[in-house]
Amino acid sequence: MSLSFPASRRRTVLAKLATLYADMDAAYTAAAAAAGLSCAGCAENCCVSFFQHHTLVEWLYLHKGLDALPDERRERYLERAREYVAGVREAVARGETPRIMCPLNDEGLCGVYDHRLMICRLHGVPNVLIGGMGVREFPGCGPCQRLAEANPNIKAMDRTPLLRRLAGLEMELWGGKAGRPPKVDMTLAEMMLRRPGE
Ligand code: SF4
Ligand code: SF4
Repeated sequence: MSLSFPASRRRTVLAKLATLYADMDAAYTAAAAAAGLSCAGCAENCCVSFFQHHTLVEWLYLHKGLDALPDERRERYLERAREYVAGVREAVARGETPRIMCPLNDEGLCGVYDHRLMICRLHGVPNVLIGGMGVREFPGCGPCQRLAEANPNIKAMDRTPLLRRLAGLEMELWGGKAGRPPKVDMTLAEMMLRRPGE
């Protein structure tokens, strides 16, 4: 299956994704402020959480960020990504859920902050997703769950409209190709080491 897309379509869709990411950041900031959640000084860095990512459009945008880095820094991240993939394989072989620091994390700071993926942007606050499978609830990060225990009035953020827009961009990128875009199902490290179509 060909995963290459016309340059003009890629540019258009990635520009729209930048706007969507800005809207996600605004929604997250408002929800975090309402919950009293701040990442400043957090001892539980969530960048060790094991996530898989699902869209081609976010994969392309991640590479846009990586391509803009100085060569030496990008190579350092790619080396860490190879170590991450090996570490995940070993953890899975032991029957464990991997907890390995993201290869893009530099002492608590995200190396591709402007190009980080949706899950990195929305993870902390409690949120819900409303769809064909009903309402799915996500409790947010550990510190936010503790805030919610102390304050049951904290409302979950509805990320459904944001996710719908992301799905729409995935379809726009896909264009008139037959079928539907494949689900990516890769860790961030695996996405770093390949590009769509490779
Ligand atoms: S999202 Fe939560 S766990 Fe992650 S750094 Fe912020 S406060 Fe800490
Ligand atoms: S991409 Fe950035 S925010 Fe996301 S897990 Fe990695 S370091 Fe953390």
